[in-house]
Amino acid sequence: MAVLEAPASTTRKGDRISISISVQISCTDLAGVHFSGVVQTVNVSRNGCCLLLKQSLAPGQKIYLQRIGSGEEAVGRVVGQTGIRPEGNLYGVEVLNPGENFWGIRFPPQKELEEGTVRVLLKCSACQNCEETALNEVDLSVFQITHRLTRKCQACSASTVWETVPDKTGAAGAQNEPHVTGKRPEKRKHPRVNMRTVGCVGPAGPRADVVDVVNVSRGGVCFRSSRIYPEDTWIQVAVPYTPGAANIFVAGRIVRSRKMSLSVTEYGVEYVKT
Ligand SMILES: [Zn+2]
Repeated sequence: MAVLEAPASTTRKGDRISISISVQISCTDLAGVHFSGVVQTVNVSRNGCCLLLKQSLAPGQKIYLQRIGSGEEAVGRVVGQTGIRPEGNLYGVEVLNPGENFWGIRFPPQKELEEGTVRVLLKCSACQNCEETALNEVDLSVFQITHRLTRKCQACSASTVWETVPDKTGAAGAQNEPHVTGKRPEKRKHPRVNMRTVGCVGPAGPRADVVDVVNVSRGGVCFRSSRIYPEDTWIQVAVPYTPGAANIFVAGRIVRSRKMSLSVTEYGVEYVKT
């Protein structure tokens, strides 16, 4: 098999290359069901990949990978979900100890990449411990989208969710924003427009959830539904929605929820480009 040459110029995203490679995977999904089958990558990098698959996986879980057409095998770790498409979920996967030829792609020398490693200050959401953390390119791809990572906490002796530290306590942030006081007014990137309409949480079909839209903005939508969507759930949503027409579903994440009555919950959704 021919070895592909990675582009010479490395971007800030590291050495991620959009390429569809068939991978035999073996793992256990969120429901505890063992899955073994062939899936496709959406992109690959020296130490990881983004996989498209129907199953739901948990951050931190193990996944066994074998590149189809090669004998190359590796163990991977699911870093987190980075998107949703009509055909499945996208997951950032770190490939642990990949062989030089795991992807059959020659990447730029490792040294250049290490210099580009991003360091961020993260806080364990369970014990509030802060730690400066070096993110590899897979961590970064997940973190840029979800703004959080699941990783081991020494203090908690467990895998916990880590989030960015608010500006107030971050030295760099404090310097950049000297007038920040304890309570900041909630800043919105996009103005909201109150719009009473109907939306639909996909996938399209008889089981789709037709919902009442409360307001929309360029960055997201707020709707009410009788169904339960836990926070951080990835959804596909069409707003506005016309039954029977060709509706456009876009990927989004439930970022907040508020119980309005016994049967109705209001959800805030942030659109996510994937
Ligand atoms: Zn902790």
